[in-house]
Amino acid sequence: MKNLIQQLIITVICGMAIPCFAQNDTSTTKATTKPTKQVSILFVGDMVLDDLPGKAIEQGQDPFAAFEKIFQSADIRVGNLECVIATIGKASEKNFTFRAHPRVIPLLKKYFDAISIANNHSGDYGPAAFSEMLTLLNTQKMSYFGGGNNLSEAHRPHIIERNGLRIALLGYDEFMPRSFEANVNKAGVAWSEDEQVIADIKAARQQYRADIVIPFMHWGWENEMTANKRQRELARIMIDAGADAVIGGHPHVIQDTETYKGKPIIYSIGNFMIDAVDNEAQTLGWAIRLHIDQHGVKAWDTRMAKLNKEGIPSPIPEASSACWDKKSGELRTCKNAQLQ
Ligand SMILES: [Zn+2]
Repeated sequence: MKNLIQQLIITVICGMAIPCFAQNDTSTTKATTKPTKQVSILFVGDMVLDDLPGKAIEQGQDPFAAFEKIFQSADIRVGNLECVIATIGKASEKNFTFRAHPRVIPLLKKYFDAISIANNHSGDYGPAAFSEMLTLLNTQKMSYFGGGNNLSEAHRPHIIERNGLRIALLGYDEFMPRSFEANVNKAGVAWSEDEQVIADIKAARQQYRADIVIPFMHWGWENEMTANKRQRELARIMIDAGADAVIGGHPHVIQDTETYKGKPIIYSIGNFMIDAVDNEAQTLGWAIRLHIDQHGVKAWDTRMAKLNKEGIPSPIPEASSACWDKKSGELRTCKNAQLQ
């Protein structure tokens, strides 16, 4: 009777087009046919939702719309919010200060699983505005990382679990002013002191049981097309500590890439949404997609974004841009239009 019920269950389940094993399969056969856990994660660079992009949103436009399909082609989407979101505060004395209205949050929620706030603009309107942003993001359940109400919150990884994999995202700023940094009792961004970064990456694996760890950096010099010595050194330190890939931004242009110990380092993915640009290279950015399994990044590809005069991006389907796969180890170019 028991066997009959078992057979019946198998017949019903197999009839539902779920992969089934014959009753006498060995466990070894089951293990080899088990699907690999896979996830794709897309990163875009600096987004300033103040000024013209902010105005577009105020007028009811959706400046992300042209990228909607590309965003949908990844399981997880991440961007760098290069401004504070607040209604209060006073602009700091620096060349550029950016503050977005809280009305941008529903749009961020629509397109992003998490945003990094570790950058040199999230503190532009002072600590009270930064704290208001944290409250707004928390109440509206928009996930963020790289900043917090104190040092430990700022350095805590944001964990996303998808397709059976736990991904840890860490965000760091190392571009002045350092006054934006979080402290034991002060809200702010995570600063990339080497020892702290190593400890965070190790904690992400051990304490937070992450399968994959990705630091999203805010570093380098503006307008330099190749990474500097510090970026190269820190990227290696992070991979030696256990990072699976390093993604960077802030130079406002796309920089070179490297592979170290089989792990990709993408030094700068450039701008994604900003009208304050002063040369052609700043109007281009990458939407980079990492294809990941439990062993790390197995391939990555990029879609070129072109920013118009309002700072709003559109894909360039006819463009060819960098792509890579671990198997060949080769850096190639892929036609954007042909990427699925
Ligand atoms: Zn920046």
